[in-house]
Amino acid sequence: MNRKKFQFFPEPGDGTAELAPTIQPEGKYPCPCCGERTLPVPKEEAIAFICPVCWWENDVFTPGEDEPSDENHGMTLREGRENYRRFGAVRKDLASKKQGTP
Ligand SMILES: [Zn+2]
Repeated sequence: MNRKKFQFFPEPGDGTAELAPTIQPEGKYPCPCCGERTLPVPKEEAIAFICPVCWWENDVFTPGEDEPSDENHGMTLREGRENYRRFGAVRKDLASKKQGTP
């Protein structure tokens, strides 16, 4: 009888064995407005989440980019993006404000 005992170790190989870092920043999901990963949950679930980067309030009920968002005072996502590009926030008066500071 063959009593050979086999032990299989995965070989380190040529670098294809990935040591994938799974550490994620605080947010995992990109904000629909500024694209920064600020959402802790997918945008479909981030009800009333306000992005700390661009101040867009996530609207789970507005499907399109050109639909006025009630959460954002009738602003569309497209307008929000343009404002973010221009001012650094979805609203000019919020651009200078930093969240967390009184
Ligand atoms: Zn954002």
